[in-house]
Amino acid sequence: MEVRISIVVALVTLCVYVSGLPDVIRIGGLFHPADDKQEVAFRYAVEKINNDRTILPRSKLSAQIERMSPQDSFHASKKVCHLLRSGVAAIFGPQSAHTASHVQSICDTMEIPHLETRWDYRLRRESCLVNLYPHPTTLSKAYVDLVKAWAWKSFTIIYENNEGLVRLQELLKAHGPYEFPITVRQLGEGSDYRPLLKQIKNSAESHIVLDCSTERIYDVLKQAQQIGMMSDYHSYLITSLDLHGVDLEEFKYGGTNITAFRLVDPEGPDVKRIVRDWSLGDGRRKTDSNLDNNTFVKAETALMYDAVHLFAKALHDLDTSQQIDIKPLSCDALDTWPHGYSLINYMKIVEMRGLTGVIKFDHQGFRSDFALDIIDLSREGLKKIGTWNSTEGVNFTRTYGEAYTQIVEIIQNKTFVVSTILSSPYCMRKDSSEKLTGNAQFEGYAVDLIHEISRILGFNYTIKLAPDGRYGSLNRETKEWDGMMKELLDQKADLAVADLTITYDREQAVDFTMPFMNLGISILYRKPIKQPPNLFSFLSPLSLDVWIYMATAYLGVSVLLFILARFSPYEWDNPHPCNSEPDVLENQFTLLNSLWFTIGSLMQQGSDIAPKAVSTRMVAGMWWFFTLIMISSYTANLAAFLTVERMDSPIESAEDLAKQTKIKYGALKDGSTAAFFRDSNFSTYQRMWSFMESARPTVFTMSNVEGVDRVVKGKGSYAFLMESTSIEYVIERNCELTQVGGMLDSKGYGIAMPPTSPFRTAISGAILKLQEEGKLHILKTRWWKEKRGGGSCRDDTTKASSTANELGLANVGGVFVVLMGGMGVACVIAVCEFVWKSRKVAVEERVSSILHDT
Ligand code: GLU
Repeated sequence: MEVRISIVVALVTLCVYVSGLPDVIRIGGLFHPADDKQEVAFRYAVEKINNDRTILPRSKLSAQIERMSPQDSFHASKKVCHLLRSGVAAIFGPQSAHTASHVQSICDTMEIPHLETRWDYRLRRESCLVNLYPHPTTLSKAYVDLVKAWAWKSFTIIYENNEGLVRLQELLKAHGPYEFPITVRQLGEGSDYRPLLKQIKNSAESHIVLDCSTERIYDVLKQAQQIGMMSDYHSYLITSLDLHGVDLEEFKYGGTNITAFRLVDPEGPDVKRIVRDWSLGDGRRKTDSNLDNNTFVKAETALMYDAVHLFAKALHDLDTSQQIDIKPLSCDALDTWPHGYSLINYMKIVEMRGLTGVIKFDHQGFRSDFALDIIDLSREGLKKIGTWNSTEGVNFTRTYGEAYTQIVEIIQNKTFVVSTILSSPYCMRKDSSEKLTGNAQFEGYAVDLIHEISRILGFNYTIKLAPDGRYGSLNRETKEWDGMMKELLDQKADLAVADLTITYDREQAVDFTMPFMNLGISILYRKPIKQPPNLFSFLSPLSLDVWIYMATAYLGVSVLLFILARFSPYEWDNPHPCNSEPDVLENQFTLLNSLWFTIGSLMQQGSDIAPKAVSTRMVAGMWWFFTLIMISSYTANLAAFLTVERMDSPIESAEDLAKQTKIKYGALKDGSTAAFFRDSNFSTYQRMWSFMESARPTVFTMSNVEGVDRVVKGKGSYAFLMESTSIEYVIERNCELTQVGGMLDSKGYGIAMPPTSPFRTAISGAILKLQEEGKLHILKTRWWKEKRGGGSCRDDTTKASSTANELGLANVGGVFVVLMGGMGVACVIAVCEFVWKSRKVAVEERVSSILHDT
């Protein structure tokens, strides 16, 4: 019984179903003559549904096509009414905003589903409209996500019309007020965009968001290429979803980053099959379509195909729940189609896969949940490098290795312009009798370095000197860079290879590789002057005080010895031992003898006089002990004093420099060394900076060579704050100069390149390789110690050290002077003694002579 009831129910249902939909369901398509592809897609979709009996098993769709001008809204309204009169179940198109709004309002009135596939920011929730185009706000978010993923700090938006600004409003909103400014420029009406592009080029902007119709993309890019805005450092984000339809052949090898989103993957199996069908379709369709050699599917075309399928699927679903009849409607009557809203609701709840991915609508009826491919132009054409979807955002699928390989490939065909300046030993003019040209004119560490890097990566290069010969400093008023930095920022050079220090300010403006050399600031000063040896340098081991104390001690001890000898009875001797009862006793310690005894022992020579009493022996013993210690100390110190050269250096460190004002000091003007002192928070360096700034004449030099010259000519009145590596080079060759103190900071030289240069990683890798292979060390030794007079001061020092132990007459001359002086005094005394004795004899003998005379 139950089985019978179910069969009956099933038959009734089948009956209802079978009779539910009319055999032929008309659907209207409104197209502009230029939109032939839309029309083809529409027809093809209808044909496909009719052939595939699973979608609408009993009914066939019939395409009612009306063509009209995109501007002619009057005719558009008439054509819609005409379609409605013929009894259509839905209206598809048109693409132009002018006509679409009229069509939509008629459909709204008549409650006829209106399916659109165009970008329309005025999407309304309650209407008969179903728009398959991704929702503008969500699409806009995709651009924001991509720009954020790239971490673009500043960029310029080029837009065509106000709609473009609406499309990019999320991007404008996402930009914080404190971030770098973004520039918004409108593409002019005509076809010459060069003036606008030139202005953008002059602003040194390299990140461009281009929002214009797909047809204009090629022209804009071509003109950008003509004015030099398609370099390796420029990046374009193109908002069109149809970039794969633009001929980008000419831009493939330029190295410019051209990126866009796409909704339809032309490589997808379904798309490929459909495109093949279109191209190989019957003669009628082929002539109609102009799709002959073109495999490109516009997003809107694919959306039209999906729209017809969506309609068919929703109709099928609606048919299972209600009886549908389609009737002709008149625009003049108040009649509406009762199934219109139901069908629209079904369309909005249906979920299906189409050519444009999963088609589903959010609770507001907008297509906000969709996925896009991120495509990037490479040598092989547009390549998918990632995906974006509304929930997960950007997801790059290109691996680091792939990106790296691509960059290395690009590098191999490049000729880089290498900016540098003449600075020994990094880049110097080659000495040659012949006239040299090109890279052959130069030699040096930087020249060899770039040569080694080019060998590893396989690029060519041309060395170009920066016109102003400066490293690069930021003018804080004009906000402009000079020197090599300017060359990079103006994109007149691709690399700057020199002793260019990596600093925070520079790193903000350009890209640096990892450092190839480490260094720090130090002081270049003339070597301490050798003091000429003192004639009386034998006196140096003891200070004057000690000499005076010694002399006092000598006299004191001698006198004490004399006195004690007088007191002590044991020092009184019998002058005539044979006479046991002498009248007079004799004491050997006269004052002169005491002095002789003490001097004899002080000179380590002794004398015939020897103390006999305990008291005098005590004095003698203590004096001997004293002399032992004094003489050994003197001898030990004398050796050191006579052999060590006395150097006179007024400064030993930066602190010493800061403390004084006699010795002037300066640095290279606008270099990183000067910037270090200018920006330092350390009080000593701040003081030094104020001193340098206020010094007149200026202490800043235009080059390192000038600084070195000033130190040499200044003869101790000027010290130059210079980078340790350069100091090392100078003191290897100029033996008068030396480095004073240690390093004040620690930093490195790097190769600079324009901001967001794609080659940074590859060049950094090459530097690392050279470092690991020891090549950098070899280069340093070659240019510092070997070439161009390297090592000449090393000979000087070895010579000096080998003769260090020999004492010249100048060192010991004083002793000879003393000896001669002593001899002279002795002679004078001898004469005095002789005169004295003669006089005494004469006085004694004068009497006899007088007597004899009388
Ligand atoms: N290497 C420095 C620079 O890149 C120049 C020399 C200096 O400032 O001592 O600015």
